[in-house]
Amino acid sequence: MNKQFRRAVIAGNWKMNMLASEVKAYATGLNFLCAGSQNWCDTVICAPFTALTSAVQNFSEKNVYVGAQNMSQYTSGAYTGEVSGGQLKDIGVEYVIIGHSERRELYGETDESVNAKTIAALDASLCPIVCVGESLQQRESGVTFDVVAKQVKAALRGVSADSVCKIVIAYEPIWAIGTGKTASPQDAQDVCCEIRNVLGALYSPEIAKTISILYGGSMNDKNAHELLAQEDIDGGLVGGASLKPELFATIINAANQ
Ligand code: PEP
Repeated sequence: MNKQFRRAVIAGNWKMNMLASEVKAYATGLNFLCAGSQNWCDTVICAPFTALTSAVQNFSEKNVYVGAQNMSQYTSGAYTGEVSGGQLKDIGVEYVIIGHSERRELYGETDESVNAKTIAALDASLCPIVCVGESLQQRESGVTFDVVAKQVKAALRGVSADSVCKIVIAYEPIWAIGTGKTASPQDAQDVCCEIRNVLGALYSPEIAKTISILYGGSMNDKNAHELLAQEDIDGGLVGGASLKPELFATIINAANQ
């Protein structure tokens, strides 16, 4: 990791798992397992809405932040079942995952809604973790760079140079999420490097150097070290392996080495 320019971020995506009543025991375990670890990495726990308050109360350790997994693109009003960025910020949430492939695939999120949510998150002073990534068919057809570049450009439409520095990008090849198949460190590096090139062209190479780009897709305690050693991979977005404190702590400690 290029620690000279940007901080590492290890974000756990609990998806629709964990009860509010289970957070305290998890936090105690994680704090214990990460005690004494270096301080180079920001840890983010992206909990389901129902566990966010409990997470804010229990992850009070320095460098452990709480994130949501989605938010509305609107600030308030008649949007039954939705939660706004301002409401998340109000309870102590600092990060929010935007455009996860499960939301794109299962809930019809588009590049346009991802862009609107990214801007709404920034307006609410939340740090958006903007997810991009190709399907298996797109990878096999050789269009990975085009797909990812298009998603990055669309997500950042109208985002100023000042604001883009507050964004984290997560490269998550869809075929690697929850499948146990991980992109090879070199393949993940190549796409993350391409994302940085796109950011450099959109803003400037200096700005691109400061933006954290995460890899996500079956990252675990065994493969994290090698993935995180890549020049343009500044951290991880971790699903399954974030549910067990002992696995997640190993990944955090790998990022802190
Ligand atoms: C994710 O949900 O963003 C993810 C990467 O999941 P997993 O680590 O389980 O593949």
